[in-house]
Amino acid sequence: MRVDVVSIFPDYLAPLDLSLVGKARTAGLLDLRVHDLRDWTTDRHRTVDDTPFGGGAGMVMRPDVWGRALDDLLDDDSHLLLPTPSGDRFTQRTAERLATETHLVVACGRYEGIDARVAAHYATRPGVTVSEFSLGDYVLNGGEVAALVLVEAVARLLPGVVGNPESLVEESHGAAGLLEYPVYTKPPTWADLAVPDVLLSGHHGRIARWRRDQALVRTAQRRPDLLDALDPSALDAHDRATLADAGRPPHGAEPQATEDPSGPGGGSREA
Ligand code: SAM
Repeated sequence: MRVDVVSIFPDYLAPLDLSLVGKARTAGLLDLRVHDLRDWTTDRHRTVDDTPFGGGAGMVMRPDVWGRALDDLLDDDSHLLLPTPSGDRFTQRTAERLATETHLVVACGRYEGIDARVAAHYATRPGVTVSEFSLGDYVLNGGEVAALVLVEAVARLLPGVVGNPESLVEESHGAAGLLEYPVYTKPPTWADLAVPDVLLSGHHGRIARWRRDQALVRTAQRRPDLLDALDPSALDAHDRATLADAGRPPHGAEPQATEDPSGPGGGSREA
């Protein structure tokens, strides 16, 4: 995958040299290029902004400067991504979709944002998809943090970037639609807090059931909105009972008798 990030603060993207994304770049799994928008200015002050038509506070980024940059960077199979607080919410589903694409171009806004004609113009260009995306319901100073988030969320889904792909399977916001269960490591007791016995049991079936219960309870407590999106057919009787115990029976489902795949004593809804 190739990713181009354009910003007036290219140094802001320096963390993309670090950690897994940095390693992915070094290994050739991700061709990531960071550009200074001012390289496409034509005046001696390297101006990228001007006053808003219609008046009002702040400055707006000029479409002609962005146009020169994007004409150079976009090809006939590119996805132009514009961070903005008025965009669609960026989610794990967005990252999964983008991870299947070949070329992303992220245009980082500053000031009051980028002249609206930039999104409109490139949306009509054959071979270019335009998406405006938001990290959440708050306002940042610029799109660089959003670009960092996007690149990290997408890059870790590219084949070979995360050493053990198994670790992506049960994560929060993954295919199961649940938050991840709590995780523990050594020492088994710390600050008078013991790791739950089941995790030390070596019994894979019980551990899997306990983790699933914890994921269900945690999701019910912290993000009940995610439960509404669950496919009811993906819930077994034990899942339904666990959710009912947590005070969030799944939609359209009466709690049923529990079937415990881990065998007698394996159920741990109370844990
Ligand atoms: N005037 C704009 C508004 O009210 O929608 C906010 C502009 S903001 C100060 C400057 C830039 O920061 C935006 O163009 C965008 O690139 C970025 N930005 C700010 N908040 C963001 C968010 N929640 N998600 C993604 N990008 C954001």
